[in-house]
Amino acid sequence: MNDDLMELYQEVIMEHNRHPRNYGVLAHANREASGFNPLCGDKIHLKLQVDNDHKITAAMFEGSGCAISIASASLLTEILQGKMVAEAYTLFEQFHELLTGHPTDIPLGKLAVFAGVSAFPARVKCATLAWHTLKAALLNNNAIVSTETGHE
Ligand code: ZN
Repeated sequence: MNDDLMELYQEVIMEHNRHPRNYGVLAHANREASGFNPLCGDKIHLKLQVDNDHKITAAMFEGSGCAISIASASLLTEILQGKMVAEAYTLFEQFHELLTGHPTDIPLGKLAVFAGVSAFPARVKCATLAWHTLKAALLNNNAIVSTETGHE
C-alpha cells in the first residue's frame, strides 16, 4: 500500500472519530449489545432495528474509546443500514480477514480504510470491537462481550 493511500485512510478514520455517524440512542431498537476492549479501554453500545425479513433497518451506537474504535463503529452503523443479517455476518468475516492481513479481493468499500491497522496487531481489537458487538447483538440480544474473554 502506498503512503498517499495510507494517509487518505488515516484521514477518513480521524474524520469519523471527530464526527461519528449514527451516534446516539436508537428508539425502538430490538437488538442490542455492549462491547468492551480492556486492552485499550474502548466501550461500544450498539442498538439495531431488525425487521421480520431479517433486514437491518437502523443501527446506532454510543461509546468512548480510541479513534480507531469509534471510527469503526461509525462506519459499521453506516454500512449496516439496509443490509440483511446474513450479509452482516459475511462482512464481519471479510473485515476480520482484512485486519488479520489475509489478502482479500472482495470489495469492502469504505471498510478498506482499516487495511493499515493489520500492521498493528494491538489495534486490531480496537477495529473489530464494534463488529464483535454486532455479532453479539444479532446472536444473543443484550449480550456483553469483551475482547479478552477468550470465548468469543
Ligand atoms: Zn482502542
